[in-house]
Amino acid sequence: MDYQAILNVIEKELEHFDPGGKVPDYIPELAKIPADKFGMHLYCLDGKNFSFGDHDERFSIQSISKVFTLALAKKHGGKKIWKRVDVEPSGDPFNSLLQLEKENGIPRNPFINAGSLVIADILISELENPKEYLLDFVREISDDPTIEYDEKVAASEYQHGYRNIALVNYMKSLGNIENDADDILDFYFHQCSIAMSCCQLAKAFVIFANEGKTLITNKKVIGANSAKRINAIMQTCGFYDEAGEFSFRVGLPGKSGVGGGIVAVHPGQYSVAVWSPLLNEKGNSEKGMKALEELTSLTGLSIF
Ligand code: GLN
Repeated sequence: MDYQAILNVIEKELEHFDPGGKVPDYIPELAKIPADKFGMHLYCLDGKNFSFGDHDERFSIQSISKVFTLALAKKHGGKKIWKRVDVEPSGDPFNSLLQLEKENGIPRNPFINAGSLVIADILISELENPKEYLLDFVREISDDPTIEYDEKVAASEYQHGYRNIALVNYMKSLGNIENDADDILDFYFHQCSIAMSCCQLAKAFVIFANEGKTLITNKKVIGANSAKRINAIMQTCGFYDEAGEFSFRVGLPGKSGVGGGIVAVHPGQYSVAVWSPLLNEKGNSEKGMKALEELTSLTGLSIF
């Protein structure tokens, strides 16, 4: 497969594509990002990689981080995490409070905000220094020690994080939060603030395409069974109330973030990251989704 030729076609086809939408103004630091950024990077499991545009520029990974923290919670929290968070699609926006009351404070899945806040709580209980541990994990799987939290983005979100503050306190009132709400929010806003490029993200996500093993060094950092299960949750819950649409159009497990990034995985083949900051009303990058739809259409390959 000539992936570079296919990526070149995608870049050219979408050069003048106007996705509409807007950058997320509820996190003021993210509202400053130029809307016309566009890049893509694909890593095959043999290390060959292909790219275009702003693929090397770092951006805020936001909810894509929820996949990393879930991988760590599965490793350190074991099966008991599934007593505190479910694995069903929510059909609601990522920051919704609606289902929590009816469902006794058990979030529908680990990729909506409520679910990821519970995962953060689990990591704080299980790990000595969870912020450092998470960063080390991301650096290891990306094979890049320069990856950092963006303190400005984390602080900006904390100042305007009313919804997440409400979510964590509400779940605490329903008995599904163990630690101090401020500690959980500090961890969660930091995980979302991690700055990575499409190149770094695609490399990191190889573990989900490669049965839990890192690119080239082939080190097993999570179990093959974990990779399988996390891919399944990405497939059904990675795009909130647009998970069906992404699955229908792209046909791969994936995860988006309000920083405009999307990562998708074709198990056994490749992982790919795309970045375009304008978000549709569901909070997903419209041009990013279009680029991935083109990728699976032009290659004729998806998991289906
Ligand atoms: N940090 C963002 C929030 O909690 C993450 C949301 C997202 O990327 N969908 O609102």
